[in-house]
Amino acid sequence: MARIAFLGLGAMGSRMAARLLAAGHALTVWNRSPQAADALVQAGARLAASPADAAKGADFVIAMLRDDEASQQVWCDPAQGAFSTMSSDAIAIESSTLSPDGIRRLGAAAHARGIALLEAPVSGSRPAAEAGKLVYLVGGEAAVLARAESVLGVMGAAIRHVGPLGVGCVTKLATNALLGIQVSALAELIAWLQGRGVDPARVLQAVAATPVCSAVAQVLAGSMLQGDFRPQFPVELIEKDFAYLLSAIGSEAAAPTLAATRAVFRQGIDRGLAADNMTAVIRLFAG
Ligand code: NAP
Repeated sequence: MARIAFLGLGAMGSRMAARLLAAGHALTVWNRSPQAADALVQAGARLAASPADAAKGADFVIAMLRDDEASQQVWCDPAQGAFSTMSSDAIAIESSTLSPDGIRRLGAAAHARGIALLEAPVSGSRPAAEAGKLVYLVGGEAAVLARAESVLGVMGAAIRHVGPLGVGCVTKLATNALLGIQVSALAELIAWLQGRGVDPARVLQAVAATPVCSAVAQVLAGSMLQGDFRPQFPVELIEKDFAYLLSAIGSEAAAPTLAATRAVFRQGIDRGLAADNMTAVIRLFAG
């Protein structure tokens, strides 16, 4: 069993860390707001005072944080950051959804300290994290991934190695682009169907029988039709990912559909939907 430090116990991180603990790993946890660690500590995890404290003596250090800024701070802070105490034998695993720039900066910082880094963003939301059914989209060296595979396998049902460091986040942002486009398109279509006085559920059941309908589209439509907007993947997080993607693409003219989708999520945030599930953007269109 490995000594694992887990940094970031939000909606996803707390569930992923719980699986590592249940699998018998020696788990040390850290979160900016320490109360998020209470349940894990009761279940046997050690609470560290800082990322540096958590990373000391760990074989693997895993982060699941909001964004580039949090990641930079938690790994690279000269006094409190995880890199400051990690052993050169240990592996750093960044699972947050970052921008290509964010992962490049992190890669440079790890390289400067002689630390092996994998980017391992995930597809799948809270239920998948809880069930160990995430899909890992890994960028980094194959030999490093081979050493980390059994640990990632506790949290994920599939591990896809997509290339060197940097390709993982590109793959993740492309995945979320396809997700977000379906969210905004379904929100507009369901609102339109409702406005025409037809039964959107019946129409969408028929659409689902055609090859054009994806598995996730049915889940998204179900959430919109039931008006269940309890957060799984909140509006503010998918908007962040569209912002990273568009910034990496470099121009809205090169990706007008992605830019329009981002604008829908931005509008959702402006209308107070930031913390609701991404499907809540139907409220922008429905009567
Ligand atoms: P979340 O519930 O909002 O948790 C965010 C975590 O980041 C919390 O632990 C938070 O600490 C920490 N954090 C934020 N800013 C920080 C800072 N400046 N310094 C230190 N810690 C900071 O988000 P989540 O849903 O777990 O998502 C985590 C990551 O996974 C994100 O990159 C997200 O895009 C990605 N993701 C999410 C999903 C999903 O369905 N939710 C699915 C796949 C990937 P506090 O508790 O102190 O605020």
